[in-house]
Amino acid sequence: MKIGELSLTAVNDGEFITGPEYFGPLATFEGHEDLVGPDGKMHMPIGCFVVQGGPLGEETVLVDAGLGEMSGDTFIGGKLMGELAGAGVRPETVGTVVCSHLHIDHCGWLVDGDGKATFPNAALFVGEGDWTRFVVEGTDLMLPQVRDGLRRLLDDGRVTLIEGDAPIAPGVTALAAPGHTPGHLVIVLSEGLERAILLGDAISCPVQLDETEWGAISDVDPALARRTRERMWAELERSGDPGVGAHFPDLKFGRVLAGEGGRRWRS
Ligand SMILES: [Zn+2]
Repeated sequence: MKIGELSLTAVNDGEFITGPEYFGPLATFEGHEDLVGPDGKMHMPIGCFVVQGGPLGEETVLVDAGLGEMSGDTFIGGKLMGELAGAGVRPETVGTVVCSHLHIDHCGWLVDGDGKATFPNAALFVGEGDWTRFVVEGTDLMLPQVRDGLRRLLDDGRVTLIEGDAPIAPGVTALAAPGHTPGHLVIVLSEGLERAILLGDAISCPVQLDETEWGAISDVDPALARRTRERMWAELERSGDPGVGAHFPDLKFGRVLAGEGGRRWRS
């Protein structure tokens, strides 16, 4: 996909498998059978995005860093490096990594099993609220080797902590979108007259446009997450810009269309 002269490639680290309980205690998949596999569960991608070209010159920006090489009932990871290679991206050529947030399925590849940087030349951008919660305080799940590796990256001067909105690279801007996590960021790509929004987990699935009561079980602050979700829908509707979340089906962009019957998602 092109946003002006920027090119955007979606890559997928694996699968996030869940029943309706992810969206809240009252959620059911009734009427949403199209989202569900034969096992009655949703199988969502673990999306990351490569941004290149145009104002970035030779620089490659990676948005989110997947789960890493691990698997369980809910998460299956491990595909990112192969997907990046398939897109012609070598780890050493990634100059910038920005994480929408620090849940395990968004920061898994930042460091390897020894805690060394997977992307040896990359500067890392993270929301300050997430750094405090996940790395400093350890209030939430984070693998010890990832936490240790991230601390070393900070000591090496390679981590920029973002409070509020901040430029990441030419054409790439992070906007504060807290709630799912305290320092959650959405990433806006902007070049020429075009714009696109990478929503991270601010919106988990387009179905939440219809199911306005649906949140995410992993929302740290459910009320704030809900307000942010609504703010994102409103912005997508107002601007007409395409958007995609890290777990949207097939990592397909869509737009919010307003009409007589209410807002609809068109991918
Ligand atoms: Zn996620």
